[in-house]
Amino acid sequence: MKFDLISIFPEYFSPLKLSLIGKAQEKNLVSIAIHDLRDQADGVHKSVDDTPYGGGAGMVMSPVPWGEAIDQVLLGSSAAIHDLIILTPAGQKLTQSLAQELVECEHLIFACGRYEGIDHRVTRYYQTVPHVRVREISIGDYVLGGGEVATLVIMEAIIRLIPGVVGNPQSLVEESHSLPEDAVEYPNYTKPAVWRGLDVPEVLLSGNHALIKAWRNDQALERTQKLNPQTRG
Ligand code: SAM
Repeated sequence: MKFDLISIFPEYFSPLKLSLIGKAQEKNLVSIAIHDLRDQADGVHKSVDDTPYGGGAGMVMSPVPWGEAIDQVLLGSSAAIHDLIILTPAGQKLTQSLAQELVECEHLIFACGRYEGIDHRVTRYYQTVPHVRVREISIGDYVLGGGEVATLVIMEAIIRLIPGVVGNPQSLVEESHSLPEDAVEYPNYTKPAVWRGLDVPEVLLSGNHALIKAWRNDQALERTQKLNPQTRG
């Protein structure tokens, strides 16, 4: 699976060397390339933004360097379909099922906005380009300063689903938001059996697998209902 990340702050992606994603790259399960949008900008200041048409506060990212950067990435890829992810708080909300859909993609390009966002013609133009699927994605109902952290969140959600990335594949099956009815997982405990006067629930020490399973189901149901009593459980 190939990832191309385009940003004016390539340094934001240094955590990708760590942990599961770092190991996934070492095992050649994913390949990640990072591109500086300013490499496509003209002038001494390498400016990538301009004032908004129609007036208003802030600056908007120009479609010109974005078009150059995305075209260059597309030219360098032999994938049959390219998924161009434009990060925006106005996009489709990231969920576990969206992550499961994205893990099936061959080539993902992440366009990280800054300022007031990217000129909307970038979305409109690439919607007309054959073999490109444009997806506007948000990681939640709040506004970040830029798309880089959102990209890291989405990549982490996707990459851990690639077979071979997480040691025990069973741990992906029983997880929160992968269970039926969007349920969340039961609480987890490990050693020591007593910590700061708090015991581990006795049932977990019983060795009775049927009882443990029933207790975990109950706990998962209770937590799920607490999170969203209207739509869950
Ligand atoms: N003016 C935009 C609006 O009101 O929708 C907000 C722009 S925000 C300050 C700058 C950039 O951060 C966006 O273009 C987007 O790339 C990124 N961003 C901010 N919040 C985000 C979110 N919730 N999910 C994904 N990306 C986000």
